[in-house]
Amino acid sequence: MDNNYRKDFPLLLTREEKGRRLVYLDSAATSQKPLSVIKAIEGYYRNYTANPHRGAYTLSEDATGLYEKAREKAAHFIGCNNPQEIVFTAGTTEAINMVALSYGRAAVKEGDEILITVAEHHSNLLPWQRLAKEKKAVLRYVYGDEQGQISLGEWEEKINSRTKIVALGHISNVLGGINPVEEISRMAHRHGAVVVLDGAQSVPHIKINVKELDVDFLAFSGHKMLAPAGIGVLYARKGLLDSMEPLMLGGGIVEEVGEQSVVFMDAPWKMEAGTPNVEGAAGLAAAIDYLNQVGWTNIHNIEKQLLEYALERLNGLNEVEVYGSKHPENRAGILAFNVKDVHPHDVASILNSYGVAIRAGHHCAQPLMKHLGVSSTCRASFYLYNTLEDVDIFIDALSKVREVLG
Ligand code: PLP
Repeated sequence: MDNNYRKDFPLLLTREEKGRRLVYLDSAATSQKPLSVIKAIEGYYRNYTANPHRGAYTLSEDATGLYEKAREKAAHFIGCNNPQEIVFTAGTTEAINMVALSYGRAAVKEGDEILITVAEHHSNLLPWQRLAKEKKAVLRYVYGDEQGQISLGEWEEKINSRTKIVALGHISNVLGGINPVEEISRMAHRHGAVVVLDGAQSVPHIKINVKELDVDFLAFSGHKMLAPAGIGVLYARKGLLDSMEPLMLGGGIVEEVGEQSVVFMDAPWKMEAGTPNVEGAAGLAAAIDYLNQVGWTNIHNIEKQLLEYALERLNGLNEVEVYGSKHPENRAGILAFNVKDVHPHDVASILNSYGVAIRAGHHCAQPLMKHLGVSSTCRASFYLYNTLEDVDIFIDALSKVREVLG
């Protein structure tokens, strides 16, 4: 497969590992950045550096324009089309904490239920665990089968009139399984619960339309979708932000402050205290442009081909166990696996000696590890810049792991 996109990522063209070409298979942790994103960040520093929303001079107005244009772009990107429903955050983690603390603290009462899945990243687990403890509410889990596949029946069984929040990852950062969000939203709304979607692993890879998914909140991170770190998004359905107290208080969020009083600005600005990450927003806007230019069909086809080929080759290795669905159509380009009797850290370190970067550990999903009966796994994850040659180098190196260990 000719990959037209690898050439756009300077690091992939120049960086070597142990004298070999780098095979980067850790995009679920963070993605590489195309030249257009790097240039957009540089462009901000060269041409727009100023504190937005504050200055009455043109440079500051230009920085404000850049920042607010990025908000509009983010809104269109997820199909909400209303920039006032978009809060810029540092990333998914901050966005979910904002929902738990600003929305959850007001909405959840003693005896209420918060429903999450056992596969959640700790960022979509710990904020709910703390909220449930604080409010004497119940944190409930859906588990799915031993491969992590959750039936709609289990959701149906666990969502009830006490459920106030259903918080789930769209795509698991370990198993790559894709949750049927539309159906789950429908069930949750029938019982009056709000749906918080952790889109950290889905927004970079599949077309998202928050209206079609019918979620109330969506959180995602720029750095996993070709943009820089330190910028992310919280989408909140219209009206929800209006009723939420700002989590952080400080400059840039008020109409008026008295010695004992404050009148906040409208949403989303009241949620963004302090000097915003304008260069991050500029980078995010450039990343959105890049993804739109490549197009979702291309992204899907590339990742599907990589996944199918990797699964086929992995399934051919007797000593390797792959977790999650064995069928590529039920999963995204994330593959968790273990090599029999070899610690995942040893596997990752041997692969590194072949220039292959994969992740090993619990992937911030310890309850899922327990559910799968393992303490940690290896994880390879793909993005649009990977090639079939990457997969070959990865699998060839993997097949040598036991040999290397002797
Ligand atoms: N949720 C999921 C599913 C993730 O994979 C991650 C990051 O790995 C996060 C949340 C946290 O994202 P961030 O560290 O960018 O806030």
